[in-house]
Order: sequence, then C-alpha cells, then structure tokens
Amino acid sequence: MFEIPISLIRQHLFCPRIPYFILLGFGNPDKPVWVRQGGEIHKESASLFLRRSLSKFGLEKADKKFYVKVFSKKYGLIGEIDMVLNDGEFIYPVEFKTHGHKPEKSHILQLVAYGLCLEEETGLKFQIGFIAYRDENKVHRIEANEEHRTKVIRIAEEIKNNIERRIHPDTPATANQCVQCEWVNFCNDRL
Ligand code: SF4
Repeated sequence: MFEIPISLIRQHLFCPRIPYFILLGFGNPDKPVWVRQGGEIHKESASLFLRRSLSKFGLEKADKKFYVKVFSKKYGLIGEIDMVLNDGEFIYPVEFKTHGHKPEKSHILQLVAYGLCLEEETGLKFQIGFIAYRDENKVHRIEANEEHRTKVIRIAEEIKNNIERRIHPDTPATANQCVQCEWVNFCNDRL
C-alpha cells in the first residue's frame, strides 16, 4: 500500500513537486519525512502548556494520548499526532505549535487528515480538532467541514497520481518560491 506522510500535505500546497521528489527518493533526507517538523514542541513542553490550558479545549474529562501514530488504509495516509483527545463518542486531534497565532490553511488540512485517520482507526466521530500555540497560550478550535475533508482526499489522490505517473508534476510555484526552495536543483525548468 502506498503511504503518504501527512506532513507532505503542507509541502504539496507549497509546490506539488516537493512530495514527488521526497517520495521518489530524490535528495537524501536525514530522517523519515513523517517525523515531526521544526516548530512543534516536545512532550514535556506540551504537558506544561496543557496543564495551563486544558479548560480551553472544553474537554477536561477526555482521555488524552500523546504522539499517536496513525494510518488510513482508505486514503493511504500516515502520520503522528501531537495529542489525541477521546470522550468516548468523538475523537479530537490536537497539534501544538510554538509560534504563530492563527492557523494557516495547510495546518488546518493536516489536522483534518489526522482526524480522518483517527475516525477510520477508532470508529469514533471526528468533527473538531485543535491547534494550540504555546507562546500565545491560545487554542484554536477547528471544525472539519466537508470542504476540508474533500480537499484532503483530493490532495492525497494528487500526490499518489503524481508518483504513479513518474512525471514532474505541473506546478503553480512562483519564481519567489523557487528561489527559497531547497529542491531547486532538481527543477531545471525553473529560474
Ligand atoms: S524549485 Fe520551484 S518548482 Fe521546484 S520544487 Fe521548488 S518550488 Fe517547486
């Protein structure tokens, strides 16, 4: 089964060629791509933040698990979630960030991808997730709507199709994006 690390959704939104290069083994990443990215916070820090902020989730009685690995057979997605809350009826993915104050579209879609995996694995309902910012001590409640779900599924399909076709994907990336991109040496039609 073809497995797409959920962290690649953000990369795909930046440029569809990046997941293509990573999954086909161009370059040589030091660590598996599903390992958490910079900017996320470690468990001790998350626990501290959580003690101060749990009421902000409105789920004081929910069961909590940290760093939960998930997999969706249906969509071919794989990943690791910072925290999962479970109240017996609903399942809630939570992502911690050190910086920032407002979730970007890519963060929301990644959160929804985690939720889809949890829903499939646990059989519980997924409707809401959270993105928490430690520096600002803020928790954003994200409602996963149909549009989010459809987008995540479409992106997973696009990544899969790009790999299967083995052709450099078309890209909407601008010259400004390419200048700051570490994969530019693999894109001889750019710059
Ligand atoms: S250099 Fe530009 S086209 Fe190539 S992967 Fe980076 S952003 Fe995409």
